[in-house]
Order: sequence, then C-alpha cells, then structure tokens
Amino acid sequence: MIIAENLEQTYTSGGRPLTVLKDINLSIEPRGFVAIVGPSGSGKTTLLGLLAGLDLPSQGTVTLDGQNLSELSEDERAMLRAEKLGFVFQSFQLIPTLTALENVLIPLELQSSDASLNGARAERRACELLERVGLSDREHHYPAQLSGGEQQRVGLARAFANQPRILMADEPTGNLDADTGHRAIDVMVRLNEEEGTTLVLVTHDTEIASRAHRIIKLAGGRIVSDERGGAGGAGGAGGAAGASSS
Ligand code: ADP
Ligand code: MG
Repeated sequence: MIIAENLEQTYTSGGRPLTVLKDINLSIEPRGFVAIVGPSGSGKTTLLGLLAGLDLPSQGTVTLDGQNLSELSEDERAMLRAEKLGFVFQSFQLIPTLTALENVLIPLELQSSDASLNGARAERRACELLERVGLSDREHHYPAQLSGGEQQRVGLARAFANQPRILMADEPTGNLDADTGHRAIDVMVRLNEEEGTTLVLVTHDTEIASRAHRIIKLAGGRIVSDERGGAGGAGGAGGAAGASSS
C-alpha cells in the first residue's frame, strides 16, 4: 500500500522556487493497476520518483507499507526499493559497461546472499526474463549496441527480475513500436493479473490507459481527475487519457 499525503515538490532553478507538484493526495492499493497521465511537464515523472522514494518531497509524506519514506536514510530507502519495488526509468539507466544479461543480473545478485550458490540459477532467470521481453538473441549486447526500444525492454526485464510486489514505470512503451509495445504491456498486465503485482505506470499510451483499473490525470502539478473503471473496462476513460497526450 502506498499513501501520498499533501505532497508538494518545489525546485529552485535560477535562484527562484518553482513548485511542480502540489496538493497530491492518493493511495494505491496492493494489486492495483494505476495509470498516471497528463501533458508533458505536468509532474508525472516527479510524482513517480516520489512514490518510489527515489526523491523526497519538499512537503508532505509518502508511506510505503506503513513506512514513512522521509524517515529513512538514502541507503534504507534503496534497501526498501530493492525489496519491494521494480522501477523502469524513462531514460533506461542501464549500466553501459555491462551487457544486457549482466544488467538484468544486477538485482538478482544483490538479492542472493550466496552468489556462488545462486549464480547459475540467477543467470537462468535473467535469460528467461530477456526471453519474455523478446531479447534472447541480444543477451551479450552492450546498451550502446541496442536500439532505444531494446534498451527499454532490458530495463523492463531488470525491473521485474526480483518479482517485486510493485512495478513502477515511466513511459514504458514510449520507445517501442506498436507490436513490441503490445508485448511489453501484456507482460506487465500478466504480472498484475497472475502474480498480483501492483502496477503504477506513467504513460501516454492509450492501450495502457484503457487496460488500467484507475487513471490519475495530472495537469500543472495537480491531480485534475482520478477515475476508476473495471479491470480493462475503462474504455471511455482510456479515450480521455488518449486525448490528453502531448
Ligand atoms: P512530466 O514527466 O509530466 O513531463 P516532470 O515531472 O518531468 O514532468 O517535470 C515537471 C516540471 O518540473 C517540469 O516543468 C520540469 O521542467 C520541472 N523539473 C523537473 N525536474 C526538475 C529539477 N531537477 N529542477 C528543476 N525543475 C525540474
Ligand atoms: Mg516524464
């Protein structure tokens, strides 16, 4: 369960404060599938970063499973994330000196206490994960040798490597063509339906928005609508989200 209360984020740029999120109140239930939509610059990436504990808010609190993230050190937040949360960055953030397989192995190796015992198994799992996102034949490629869409899919595989209870992704299909995007969405929806993984996806993708259980729309740093539909049944809301694409 994620609870955000009275969140506000203010940046100082050029010596002047700029409030980019304000009055954000929301809670996300376990097994939920939430799409966050809104025009470019409306604060989606900032909000996702706060919900994940990647950044701390200027004001307000984010509570993850009862733990106020502002009360934790940076290391403690990183540990909590490693335990509970997978995150797909808009800019991928793969490690350039590691291959696709090695990038996916990182969270698996961080989790296993006895690396030698679990090494072979971790590698098998990493191969499976890459296969799930359609990259079996790119295991030994470095990020620079992969297209943007392929890097994004490596980022996806890495994010759900440890079977996190919560998967957050920033425009996970933004660099994918329709077909590959479709497959990536299917992988995430299946995680939600079969394993109960909570999904929080920032997106312009009308297919994602239409399959989400709930659509939160931001504009100018505020929540302007928060609509719940049936599972995959929010056809009208999905259309509205599509119209908001920038
Ligand atoms: P979105 O993901 O919806 O496009 P962002 O959350 O990335 O929006 O950004 C919201 C606003 O905050 C933008 O106007 C952006 O310029 C500003 N912003 C984001 N990060 C910073 C930062 N580190 N310093 C100053 N301004 C920032
Ligand atoms: Mg963004």
